[in-house]
Amino acid sequence: MTERAQLVETFMEDVRARNTGQDEFLQAVEEVAEDVLTIEKNNPDYARNKVLERLSEPDRIIGFRVVWEDDAGEYHINRGWRVQFSNAIGPYKGGIRFHPSVNASVLKFLGFEQIFKNALTGLPLGGAKGGADFDPKGRSDREIMRFCQAFMGELGRYIGPDRDVPAGDINVGTREIGYLFGAYKKLQGEFHGAVTGKGEAFGGSAMRVEATGYGLIYFVQAMLNETGQEIEGKRIAISGKGNVATHAAEKAAQLGAKVISLSDTSGTLVAEDGLSLEQIDWVRQQKRQGLDISAPPGGAVFEPDTLPWALEADIALPCATQNEMDEKSAKDLIDSGVRLIAEGANMPLTADAVHAVREGGVSYAPGKASNAGGVAISGLEMSQNAHRRSMTADQVDQELKKIMCMIHERTIREGKTGNGIDYRCGANIAGYRKVADALVAYGTM
Ligand code: GLU
Repeated sequence: MTERAQLVETFMEDVRARNTGQDEFLQAVEEVAEDVLTIEKNNPDYARNKVLERLSEPDRIIGFRVVWEDDAGEYHINRGWRVQFSNAIGPYKGGIRFHPSVNASVLKFLGFEQIFKNALTGLPLGGAKGGADFDPKGRSDREIMRFCQAFMGELGRYIGPDRDVPAGDINVGTREIGYLFGAYKKLQGEFHGAVTGKGEAFGGSAMRVEATGYGLIYFVQAMLNETGQEIEGKRIAISGKGNVATHAAEKAAQLGAKVISLSDTSGTLVAEDGLSLEQIDWVRQQKRQGLDISAPPGGAVFEPDTLPWALEADIALPCATQNEMDEKSAKDLIDSGVRLIAEGANMPLTADAVHAVREGGVSYAPGKASNAGGVAISGLEMSQNAHRRSMTADQVDQELKKIMCMIHERTIREGKTGNGIDYRCGANIAGYRKVADALVAYGTM
């Protein structure tokens, strides 16, 4: 065993013992441990402050019951959480996810990742995540509203513009944020930016909806530029059909790339010549209305029960959810010609898949870096709210491009190796250093 592997193993033994059965969380911590523990060991300040051990334990986890009434008058009981992971460099910040798969492990992994992602943006944002095991599928608009109000009735007392600022995530978009913020405002009797992703009529930032997907493509452009390539003409396989996937597809298509797929859990929508902007918008509308994508308009076909990873492509953008791509898919993808992967979702590759793509010589950008555009624009929304002003869509888009380029620079500065760039290592180290320096300054706090 190498010295590094030994360090990781000793560290993880303890983390495993304290977080039994929390597989997603352990996966996220181990990945960071692999990249930063040697740095920690060689820096006496970081080592004495036990930075990674501290960062592997959330500041607190708030758990609560959410009781709500459906349209037929039946009561339902769900579980809600907010994992306030670290406010070392700014107020707790991160999205809210509503999905039956949500549990403490999933929210801890997401909150942990958010610490490093938010640090990478260069903005003063801590790390957090929240959500509920509520399944919005098939629920009416009124039911969604009642759930959001009940959820915020509990969460509201723990958040605030300088304390903790939630936003959206899977199944929490502009509509849900409207209900959540409306409930918060009523509860507090104050109007301030304690939630981001708001509608533009009430303090939301222009371009927040587009930011994660567009930012992902700006990051891919920066990666391609590094090797003298352009996005125009590239074949891009994308998974997912939500906010990140459709906006990444839109921006890529606008820049002249061929987006050959989008997908959902029932199959893949394939367009060999590239999806048109109209087809991408159709997918977005279907999703918005809770409809499937199995009967696309002309020029695209739906292939049931398949994944997009065996399609012939240059670039792959997994934009659906955690661990959606396993080792086999990663190998399929390398065989079908993919040389660049950038994560739109959080931790969409299993640990084995990450290993396979790195071994296979694929340029691989972790979500912490490549999907940070959403939270970065949330950061700008917070400053717009604090200053009671708003930026135009064009201004925000320019800022987003700048921020994604800066994240790329920070990542490659730490990730340059003898034979290329290790984006995962670079992102982990750059994010870690910033938070570590703050923890060292605070002493034992
Ligand atoms: N949920 C998004 C993420 O994973 C955005 C969080 C935010 O805007 O606070 O980064």
